[in-house]
Amino acid sequence: MPPVCPKCGKQAQTSSTRYGPRHSCCGLHSWDGKPLVDQATHDARQAAHAAFDQLWKVHGFGRKHAYRLLAEQLQLTKEETHMALMPMELAKLVPAAVDRILEKHPTEGKDPIVRAIEHIEKQFGPGAFRRGP
Ligand SMILES: [Zn+2]
Repeated sequence: MPPVCPKCGKQAQTSSTRYGPRHSCCGLHSWDGKPLVDQATHDARQAAHAAFDQLWKVHGFGRKHAYRLLAEQLQLTKEETHMALMPMELAKLVPAAVDRILEKHPTEGKDPIVRAIEHIEKQFGPGAFRRGP
């Protein structure tokens, strides 16, 4: 079922695209039966995701743990922490929240290689791992 347009109350038009069914009406759009939102909301959600993904892609946080920290930082429930469903104003808070998480948890946010070295040295003693030239 296509979503109902929040502006005019009619059912949205659906077209099939290579990304799946796309719904649109009154300048709003969405994918896969999700509620219609405007482009600014899509952009804010995308920026939120890009910032958040750095936590687990770059900074070595576990993905689930990263979601928990974001929920805690923004005082959200687990369900509210899905960026694909966030209202624009909330999505806009995510990049700053990610910065705060990195400030509060610097040791967890270490480079994955640094963490691996520390892990090895903890097990086998200092100097057990040496970087090549
Ligand atoms: Zn409409």
